[in-house]
Amino acid sequence: MTPDDEVRFRSVLDDVAAYKPGKPPERTDGRPTYKLSSNENPYPPLPGVLAAATEAAGNMNRYPDMGALDLLEALSERFDVPVDHLALGTGSVAVLYHLLQAACAEGDEVVYAWRSFEAYPIAVQLTGATSVQVPLTEDARHDFKAMEAALTDRTRVVLVCTPNNPTGPVVRRDELLAFLDVVPRNVLVVVDEAYREFIREPEAIDGTEIYRDRPNVVVLRTFSKAYGLAGFRVGYAIGHPPVIVAIRKCALPFGVSEVAQAAAIASLQAEDELLARVDDLVTERTRVLGELRGAGWDVPETHANFVWMPLGEDTVAFAEAVQAEGVSVRPFPGDGARVTIGEPEANNLFLEVACAWHQGRNPE
Ligand SMILES: *Cc1c(COP(=O)(O)O)cnc(C)c1O
Repeated sequence: MTPDDEVRFRSVLDDVAAYKPGKPPERTDGRPTYKLSSNENPYPPLPGVLAAATEAAGNMNRYPDMGALDLLEALSERFDVPVDHLALGTGSVAVLYHLLQAACAEGDEVVYAWRSFEAYPIAVQLTGATSVQVPLTEDARHDFKAMEAALTDRTRVVLVCTPNNPTGPVVRRDELLAFLDVVPRNVLVVVDEAYREFIREPEAIDGTEIYRDRPNVVVLRTFSKAYGLAGFRVGYAIGHPPVIVAIRKCALPFGVSEVAQAAAIASLQAEDELLARVDDLVTERTRVLGELRGAGWDVPETHANFVWMPLGEDTVAFAEAVQAEGVSVRPFPGDGARVTIGEPEANNLFLEVACAWHQGRNPE
């Protein structure tokens, strides 16, 4: 075949790495296995949420409510924001794709910390824009001075992930406000708060507060993590109408299903119960972090539902050792592994391997 006979795609696709989803654990000798590789919520659905979704499934021959009005109104009430400050998507990752598609094209730059969320480089690259990755500080936090220095005339978007996936620390209110003061008003700042409900740090920024008098700030939230609806794909943006209109123009029609809308509304109604589960996960997180540090691990603070293990060249070997116990984690080869806080039995298996590992490498 000559090049003229081949179907042609945009050249930006040549360098796009396929997104690597978290692996399910492989079964070993019939013992239970646990997936700590995708930051999922380990709790099964609440009966009321399951019932609402099941009832909605009875309408599967119909298109969903395209305006998703009931869900938007529930969110509007929950966050005390007008309905035209809200846009939905099939997960907040989809909303991010729509935002980037709306804001960037070839020649533009998107600034974000690195390492951060795996989806960012792919989403940016697909628009034709260039990623400008700013290394995290030693303690795995955003380096806002360096991010400021990375801004150019070509910067169209800045992504801020708080708590940062996969390292865990939050962005403080004072540091983000100082950064926003130096970002040009025509540059969009996306505050990705996928793990907001897990934060227990009073100094952490809350995007839903600070976006109000800043038209260039947009917040991303999701039902996937704290609310346990990862499989249903519902996320949303909170921002000012011009940003929201741009997202909606790029969104696929009828993206969020009726079942997902119903489950999300029921989850907001059952929020107290769901957030009590989040409290339990936070308690587990404190325990896991304490045991790791007690065993000598130098792990960064975390305000999400995961911990970061800075393993460097040992990352893959460590992931394999945990996997042998029936627990899958997310390795980033050469850098570290991200381990989701799951049910106590899963956390215990992980801790056993981690503590023995550290002792093996650092004999007294
Ligand atoms: C999980 C996650 C999301 C949201 O994922 P969706 O399931 O698409 O809502 C967004 N950002 C970060 C940093 C995440 O870790």
